[in-house]
Amino acid sequence: MNAWAKDFPAIPEGWHYLDTAATAQKPRQVIDAIERAYARDYATVHRGVYRRSADMTIAYEAARARVARFLNAASADEVVFVRGATEAINLVAQSWGVANLKAGDRILVSQLEHHSNIVPWQIIQDRTGVEIDVCPLTEDGKIDLDAAEAMLTEAHKLVAFAHVSNVLGSVLDAKRATELAHRVGAKILIDGCQAVPRIGADVQAIGCDFYVFSGHKLYGPTGIGALWAKGDILNAMPPWQGGGSMIDRVTFAKTTWAPAPQRFEAGTPNIVGALGLHAAIDYVEGIGLPLIHAHEAALVKAAREALGAINSVKLFGPADSAGIVSFAIEGVHPHDIGTILDEGGVAIRAGHHCAQPLMEHLDIPATARASFGIHNDEADVAALAKGIERVTRIFG
Ligand code: PMP
Repeated sequence: MNAWAKDFPAIPEGWHYLDTAATAQKPRQVIDAIERAYARDYATVHRGVYRRSADMTIAYEAARARVARFLNAASADEVVFVRGATEAINLVAQSWGVANLKAGDRILVSQLEHHSNIVPWQIIQDRTGVEIDVCPLTEDGKIDLDAAEAMLTEAHKLVAFAHVSNVLGSVLDAKRATELAHRVGAKILIDGCQAVPRIGADVQAIGCDFYVFSGHKLYGPTGIGALWAKGDILNAMPPWQGGGSMIDRVTFAKTTWAPAPQRFEAGTPNIVGALGLHAAIDYVEGIGLPLIHAHEAALVKAAREALGAINSVKLFGPADSAGIVSFAIEGVHPHDIGTILDEGGVAIRAGHHCAQPLMEHLDIPATARASFGIHNDEADVAALAKGIERVTRIFG
């Protein structure tokens, strides 16, 4: 166990959690922040006239400012709290997409996208008539930006790419992708789910238009995430859900909206989730993303070497993948790999990882995936390799 592992009470000695890409385990600091919020400070936000509610509002808005600082956003008003990346992308599709896309327009997504960065665009395809193009991948599993450059035309109004692939761990050159999108006048949305816990994001340096992530993959609670959008774009977007908190004035004759970000946060928000996310960002930045990335890169290297040395193992993705190693064993279903590894206390993910078009491209139904977090160390890699050797023995 490494020094950080002691922060994670739900990871007992001898259990090898290698599924952080699905959801991260929670450090004590985040659990304590949630406990404090419910056991000591709890009240609603934005409406209360009493002291406790005013304090909770300050804490909730401080969490928004913390997310803004984390992403280097120009203003906290550019950050909308959502349930997670899935909701963030649906929000952009239903609001910005429906208002701005029409028949003849095109969207460019990539072959490696998570379903949450494909299906929301397909849902609005019927409503808007927009066409969806698919950018291919390089041999080693990165989004092929030379191909994107050749494909993009003035008809493209949006590019939607993952910053880090949840299957291959491949890292997008987000800045170049943004330049390519902007060159044809398209906006770009970057899905930062797997990037924020590993390499982080500076939205101003990237120059993108939308950036989304889920808190639970960043060591925070489930049910909270963020949509960041450039202020002028966000302020021009219509609301997508109506209700309390998102209005300026309601009459039966006409209702007017609150400014962004409140306009996009109808209903009582996930108050404690936001506070938990604040604690998670403090935790991650307290360690430092460069250190986390270097730590995970070393584990990826060790895992790729250990698994690569086993004859029947096929590795996917680039050698410099961020924290994620996908692999398959000839003649063995990944679910069987996962089950046998579990018997040895090693928890990995097996399946299509909500990326069926990528599986089709790789010509396999599923992969086994080991993904690393702050708390992992060489012992986890050794347990993984030992488990895989057992799999190959069992399946002859
Ligand atoms: N995009 C990527 C790259 C992901 O890894 C995930 C989660 N697997 C999502 C989007 C969706 O995130 P959530 O389910 O938290 O909304």
